[in-house]
Amino acid sequence: MRKIIIANWKMNLSITKSLEFVKKVKKTKHMVGIAAPYTFLCEMKKALAHKKIQLAAQDVARFAEGAYTGEVSAKMLKKLNCTYCLVGHSERRVYFAETDENVNEKIKQLLAQGIKPVLCIGEKASERNKKLTKKVLNKQLKKALQGVKNIDKVIIAYEPIWAISTFQKGKQKKSASLDDIMEVHKYIKNVLEKMSKSKGSKIKVLYGGSVKPSNSQEILSLKEVDGALVGGASLKVSSFNAILQSI
Ligand code: PEP
Repeated sequence: MRKIIIANWKMNLSITKSLEFVKKVKKTKHMVGIAAPYTFLCEMKKALAHKKIQLAAQDVARFAEGAYTGEVSAKMLKKLNCTYCLVGHSERRVYFAETDENVNEKIKQLLAQGIKPVLCIGEKASERNKKLTKKVLNKQLKKALQGVKNIDKVIIAYEPIWAISTFQKGKQKKSASLDDIMEVHKYIKNVLEKMSKSKGSKIKVLYGGSVKPSNSQEILSLKEVDGALVGGASLKVSSFNAILQSI
């Protein structure tokens, strides 16, 4: 099955390094996307023109246009050929106080421009320890997708916060277990189907959280996993290629 693999570069690399990276990405049957910093997007658009790699942004304004200093609109991202845009990433929620309501507005802005939102959801370690994972995810999904008509155009990335490499202190970055991933993805798909019978079942659910060459094959071969959002391991083209070639 064709999977969707999206690199999340966060605030890393440089334009020069990103263009080098693009040249070296190996061909694959899978859908590949790169979420690059805003300032790289224009050069990346040109570099990707003849490649089967989709461009993604890491965030978007919740307003269409106007006096919102520092923001970038969905319409501007559309002009840069962005196919996808991350929304509600845990780093935005934790460091920039992003709420489910903001995420909902951003999703609507993106869909109005024909950009596919990659809605990131996930529970904190403390919530998992209290067995609140499903409750938290259910709330995040319901609020972020409230009033969204084309929910089949949205992609979900399940990213348990405790499994994201940059939130882990130890050297050995641990992903969620296969059993956890399977159970949670089944739950998410169930919630989406209940939200919309015809459209919910079409939504792709990616996993994110310490995906790397040593675990990508086992995670991505789960039938409940439609792809991966890759942070740290997407910063080196050798490890990103190894992930693409592991499936
Ligand atoms: C992320 O932050 O989206 C992510 C998946 O990071 P990592 O792969 O480094 O855990």
